[in-house]
Amino acid sequence: MRERNWTDCPCCGAKGAMRRQSGQTERFNPAGYAPVEVDGLDGSFCTSCGDGFWSLKSERRISSALAEHMAGQDSQRIVAAEIASVKEAADAMHITVQGVHKMMKEGRLRYVLAAGHRLPIRMYMTPAHAGEAAATHTGR
Ligand SMILES: [Zn+2]
Repeated sequence: MRERNWTDCPCCGAKGAMRRQSGQTERFNPAGYAPVEVDGLDGSFCTSCGDGFWSLKSERRISSALAEHMAGQDSQRIVAAEIASVKEAADAMHITVQGVHKMMKEGRLRYVLAAGHRLPIRMYMTPAHAGEAAATHTGR
């Protein structure tokens, strides 16, 4: 996917209103989880309506950070029966073990942290969830 260089705002239509901003910190409120702040973000934002987009690199950073944040909380409340091994996830999703690790790291497969290891959450281990990532469109 190529980075898009915004000039006019695609949300409110303001001409030439999009500005690149870096070093941003954004607070996220994932439903059912404590809020989390992610720093070091960059993207393009509208000077008129405040809406905007993160860069692709920042989107990946956000997905990864949110997944790890939620994993920390899920480790406290998800029971062992809901947690699978990486091998089980690979079989269920028809991908490699390496693919499962990559998806968890990128936040595309939900997991818990157990003794420093990422373990997949069973209910998300379906091929249908394979492309699902955290919402990264943002409002200001
Ligand atoms: Zn706008």
